[in-house]
Amino acid sequence: MRSITTFDLQYAHRFYGFQGEAQYLHGHTGVLTIEVEDDVTPRVNMVYPCNEIKKISWNLLQNFDHALVLREDDPLLPVILGVYEMQGIKNGHALNTMKGPAFKTEWATAYPDCRLVVTKETMTVEGMIKIVHDLLKDKLPIVKLTFKSGANTASQTYQPCRHIERCPLCGVALDENGHCPKCGYQKK
Ligand SMILES: [Zn+2]
Ligand SMILES: [Zn+2]
Repeated sequence: MRSITTFDLQYAHRFYGFQGEAQYLHGHTGVLTIEVEDDVTPRVNMVYPCNEIKKISWNLLQNFDHALVLREDDPLLPVILGVYEMQGIKNGHALNTMKGPAFKTEWATAYPDCRLVVTKETMTVEGMIKIVHDLLKDKLPIVKLTFKSGANTASQTYQPCRHIERCPLCGVALDENGHCPKCGYQKK
């Protein structure tokens, strides 16, 4: 069975070099749907608690929310960083608190202090699915991701992986020591 969670991400981006309106800076409400699949945990009677899917995902993905997403070769990048620097907000601001941990993967690097994500490829809906899967694939048993932004939607399915061991009391994934980060259960 599957547990399915959906949430919004507000971001600005552009398709650098694309022949069309999207080469100009603009913004979206993107809607991400994450589907995880596994056996239903007995007694807990869930595949995965949906609020935990959101919490685990949001921890990293909030770096895309109210953020600017630019490709690494976009000439806007140094210009915007220059303005942020001049304003004194490049290295953070007291009220910029909705930040996840900085990350760097093959596809994207997050700079939470200035709410910027630099991507290797243009951040289309397809590109975002690659970025999200790479960030979350070891944390959740993802079988499908769907990302909708404006009139565009992309989705990708994945083979179910069953190696993520979950807590018999609350259903969330146990850490590498067999400890449940939510309820404190410890596997013997
Ligand atoms: Zn767009
Ligand atoms: Zn637990």
